[in-house]
Amino acid sequence: MTGGGLSRRGVLRGLAGLAAIALVGCKNRPQKTTARFAQFGTLVDITIWDLPRPQAERAISRLRRDYAMLDRDWYAWGDGELGQINRTLQRAIEAPLSAPLGTLLQQSLQLSAASRGLFDMRIGPLVELWGFANAPTTASGTAAPSDADIRAALDRSRLHVDVLNDRPGWRVRTEAPGVLLDIGGIAKGDILARGMARLTTEGVSKALIDAGGDVAVMDLQGSAAFRVGIRPAREGEALRLLELRHGETVTTSGDYARYRDIGGRRYAHIIDPRTGRPSEQARSATVVHEEAARADAAATALIVGGVAAFEAICDAMRVDTALLVDNQGQIRATPEMQARLETI
Ligand code: AMP
Ligand code: MG
Repeated sequence: MTGGGLSRRGVLRGLAGLAAIALVGCKNRPQKTTARFAQFGTLVDITIWDLPRPQAERAISRLRRDYAMLDRDWYAWGDGELGQINRTLQRAIEAPLSAPLGTLLQQSLQLSAASRGLFDMRIGPLVELWGFANAPTTASGTAAPSDADIRAALDRSRLHVDVLNDRPGWRVRTEAPGVLLDIGGIAKGDILARGMARLTTEGVSKALIDAGGDVAVMDLQGSAAFRVGIRPAREGEALRLLELRHGETVTTSGDYARYRDIGGRRYAHIIDPRTGRPSEQARSATVVHEEAARADAAATALIVGGVAAFEAICDAMRVDTALLVDNQGQIRATPEMQARLETI
């Protein structure tokens, strides 16, 4: 595990039992190469079906190198690119950006608008205030932040942010110092997409990447159906199976993945940008989409919005296949999701 971990240092233990279960029904597997490693504060599992083992292993080692860099560069509180940008933005209103991060930040702004502000990468000051920056997965604390501290962090999280790509290049510009960008709600999706792009470059045509339960699949030549398990949000709930097709990603946001106990109450790591307090609207949200970053941002927005906003946010974020587990354990699913789900 690296020093950073996209906002989830220490999450390894908590997520070990959470990884989606890839039950891939596929006959005639001449070569199957698998690898498991820790990155982004979680476990990453790679499966490659179609390459001789030495080539598959080389592809995986290149992907691991990419991931180690992304882990460092995209972590809001680390020593890499985003950490440095955030430090600059505490005293300045502008910071230069690399093209890959600039593209992701621009996409985050667009998805934030589509989500009606429920997904918002400007959430960093609140994530930090509630103790989720660098904190262990399930830390305990004695007190929730004061109302005054929440208001101050909320003000910072509402400062206007532009991501520009003109002369002199990619940069982020803000209304005033104090902005802290946290892409933990979208980065996993983008990382899966980048992982698949890397494997394709390395000649892989059939693969699965599972990053802590968020799963992307590809099968460039065939039409394999990848069956992925969606873990229940609570003990006793049924495991559901979902069929994923080539190019799709499934991501889940859950209140169980990371939380803190403060004074005997459980607070989830997902913050409602409207109130500045941990979201309490639902237990988990799962989204399938061909755009992995959109799936990830949408799952975060859906869990914040809860049952009341489910349909509206699916429409606004152009998501067809989604489900929400509410606080009573009831499932709300789009028709497309219902058609694909199996309960076992
Ligand atoms: P996810 O598991 O994709 O829902 O991402 C959760 C992570 O995103 C948290 O650990 C925070 O780093 C960050 N986050 C928390 N609340 C929000 C929010 N409302 N919008 C965007 N990112 C958030
Ligand atoms: Mg997300």
